[in-house]
Amino acid sequence: MKYAQNILETIGNTPLVKLNKVLGEDFPAMVLAKVETFNPGNSVKDRMALKMIEDAEKDGRLKPGGTIIEGTSGNTGMGLALAAIVKGYKCIFVTNAKQSKEKNDILRAVGAEVIVCPTDVTPEDPRSYYSVSKRLGEEIENGWYVNQYDNLSNRQAHYEQTAPEIWEQTDGKLTHFVAGAGTGGTVTGCGTFFKEKNADIKVIGVDTYGSILKEYHETGEFHPEHAHSYITEGIGEDIIPQNYDMSVIDHFEKVTDKDGAIYARKLAKEEGIFCGYSAGSAIAALIQMKDKFTKDDVIVVLLHDHGSRYVGKIYNDEWMKEMGWL
Ligand code: PMP
Repeated sequence: MKYAQNILETIGNTPLVKLNKVLGEDFPAMVLAKVETFNPGNSVKDRMALKMIEDAEKDGRLKPGGTIIEGTSGNTGMGLALAAIVKGYKCIFVTNAKQSKEKNDILRAVGAEVIVCPTDVTPEDPRSYYSVSKRLGEEIENGWYVNQYDNLSNRQAHYEQTAPEIWEQTDGKLTHFVAGAGTGGTVTGCGTFFKEKNADIKVIGVDTYGSILKEYHETGEFHPEHAHSYITEGIGEDIIPQNYDMSVIDHFEKVTDKDGAIYARKLAKEEGIFCGYSAGSAIAALIQMKDKFTKDDVIVVLLHDHGSRYVGKIYNDEWMKEMGWL
């Protein structure tokens, strides 16, 4: 008999799928999508969630029967919730009002308590989801605040797992790695691994307008006052999480809210790959950068999460019309 001992053993080993239509016939290079929706929680975040929990168990930050507390937009929460079920922990997730309702409902479906905080407050404000999750981590007995932003087990999961899988699947032939950038775990963990293997591999982070990541990368200056709210989910930041090592990232490409939505829809319709908003942003970034690629390039683009979490928004025609994007 062939079976997994529990759902956590099914994390990883996701497929690499060639994109054939969405980039257009004249796109110069081969593009392979690392489709992370095949993870049990439907996103890449299952990998780092499990790694963060295992590392915290090892050094005693998380104790038997403890409560896992995190500020999460959904995907990290899902990964943490799955691991918590198997390992016997409670979960409290703090999210903000911008996140889709589906995401919160999904987290509640897997047994988590979800607290929704306002969006239009600074990270330092006691009502912000950063502040509330940190405070609960301190107040709740036997609680552990995960902090995916500064918890380096996040990028380490991608260094140990995601990137080696891609390296093996491409036989070490990739020339570019493209991924949406939020906490920085994916782009830094994978980027570090690829640069160690071959310093010529270009690592590209996908950012959004309203985020300060690209500006910080290019100028070294952190201007939180330049951040403004945006609609894209999962990428962009108004802080610089410790998971970043900006030196392994060659370039940040910014994509508009509209283009991310439009290319997520195209990816679903033209490739049958039903993914989230940031996947659309990553495809749009490739289109914007088209002139920089050649026929010999092998580009790997990582698609972070599943489209089902966005059926009320980018996959809803009425919502798209309200935004003026359809
Ligand atoms: N896309 C989605 C949908 C996400 O949830 C996240 C995580 N915030 C990202 C992209 C960015 O990944 P990372 O946090 O590893 O930079």
